[in-house]
Amino acid sequence: MSKNAAVSSLPQYDDRFIETAAGWYALVRENSDLGPFISRFEAEQALERHLRLYRGVNHRPRGEAFHGIGVHDTASCRKANCGRCIEARALNHGLLAVY
Ligand SMILES: [Zn+2]
Repeated sequence: MSKNAAVSSLPQYDDRFIETAAGWYALVRENSDLGPFISRFEAEQALERHLRLYRGVNHRPRGEAFHGIGVHDTASCRKANCGRCIEARALNHGLLAVY
């Protein structure tokens, strides 16, 4: 059983969580992803707070970050705190843990 097999309290948002060398991130549509956190649980709690805060406020369409695995262009990314950029940088530097 993988370490990610735990039942999430936010199963409908499963594709919003990524684990990087820096920690867990919750990906959001706003300018700053949430993280890094030391556990997925903390990232989920942060996303729950974030969703409560932004419910009914943000009506922008879902971005490319929510179509599963895809290419993320770190050179053109405008996020101030981006989990996917952190992950890409870690991959470039070989910092990912070996599973
Ligand atoms: Zn990015």
